[in-house]
Amino acid sequence: MRNGPVRSLLVKSALATLIIAGVAGAGPAQAAGCRNSGSFEGWLDGFRKEARADGISRSTIRSALGNVTFDPRVVKRDRSQGVFSQSFLKFASRMINKNRLGNGRARLKKHRALFKKVEQRYGVPGAVIAAFWGLETDFGGNMGDFSVLRSLATLAYDCRRPDKFRPQLMDALRLLENGDLRLSEMVGAWAGEIGQTQFLPTEYNKFAIDFDGDGKRNLRRSLPDVLASTANVIRHFGWQAGQPWLREVRVPRDLPWQEADIAIKHPVSQWAKWGVKRANGKALRADNTPASLVLPMGRNGPAFLAYPNFGIYLEWNHSLVYTTTAAYFATRLAGARPVSQGNGKASPLTGGQMKQLQSILHRRGYDVGKIDGVLGAGTRAAVKAMQLKLGMPADSYPTVALLNRLR
Ligand code: CA
Repeated sequence: MRNGPVRSLLVKSALATLIIAGVAGAGPAQAAGCRNSGSFEGWLDGFRKEARADGISRSTIRSALGNVTFDPRVVKRDRSQGVFSQSFLKFASRMINKNRLGNGRARLKKHRALFKKVEQRYGVPGAVIAAFWGLETDFGGNMGDFSVLRSLATLAYDCRRPDKFRPQLMDALRLLENGDLRLSEMVGAWAGEIGQTQFLPTEYNKFAIDFDGDGKRNLRRSLPDVLASTANVIRHFGWQAGQPWLREVRVPRDLPWQEADIAIKHPVSQWAKWGVKRANGKALRADNTPASLVLPMGRNGPAFLAYPNFGIYLEWNHSLVYTTTAAYFATRLAGARPVSQGNGKASPLTGGQMKQLQSILHRRGYDVGKIDGVLGAGTRAAVKAMQLKLGMPADSYPTVALLNRLR
């Protein structure tokens, strides 16, 4: 997935802000125009000494960093990541195409015993792991072809975020030093992610599991290691075994829409009282499980209840469209039917209209974050506040009707 917008979900969530917040368009202001003062070679000499002091052997340092050079392609990638502005339905249909869905199902079937063993050990269902596996690398088919050491050395040297990538480079050396990976296996995505579910070296060191018992944690070649390690990260983020994560629902036309917010939780029984039903129209099992109502395209679009386990997706990424798509993919692999289009026609604003709306909201004193034409959490919150002020259904989703009222 190194060319797509969904990248390295788990590892990036572990780093919290690294790629999604840091690289994807919203880098720290002071870094945007920064300059490197010394040469790459001089910097690398310093790093080699630090690695030695950190206990990495001379031979590992020599073989790993002996001939490493600066890679301008990596910096170019890092600085030119596009912003993301597709609607949920569009994005979901692209990411969860027939091919990927079929592949996912086939793998779940083929490796049923292994998935079962992993679930028994870590409590994470196969469908959830397989969805990440499919989105990250198309089930190991596209793990990237960049030299991990070269990429990480380049990013650690580059003035933008050396504090993030220097430890990653050190941990990449540790993976070699302790024998998990061979030098020839240090190949991955442009930002240094490795393996079938794209771990950055620090998370690799921290979370990878030798599940096939051969003494090495190989997230490129060993499927048992890949699946168990991925489950281990998911569990680390708080996954509760046996609990749902996301479920499509049907919403009535007269819901208190302002309650539909990923930050607001109500017991399922309360949602049921408000008329929320299962996707098939039957009653929800009205228990006390806290859930948020997620409307990625507003009250006329698809609707989901997000349960506590959905939190692991939010660890990964703050974009409602990304997270809902990944979680929805897992529900499809677990047997859910295709999502309905919702109550009516949810027509997303164009990028230009979104920018215009953001500017208007900004001028009126609402914090929309960056005026970038992207529907992020800040813009959703500002839209909701404005909808409440105007007495419109406050579903946080910007429409042409709202834009016209403000113009
Ligand atoms: Ca192994």
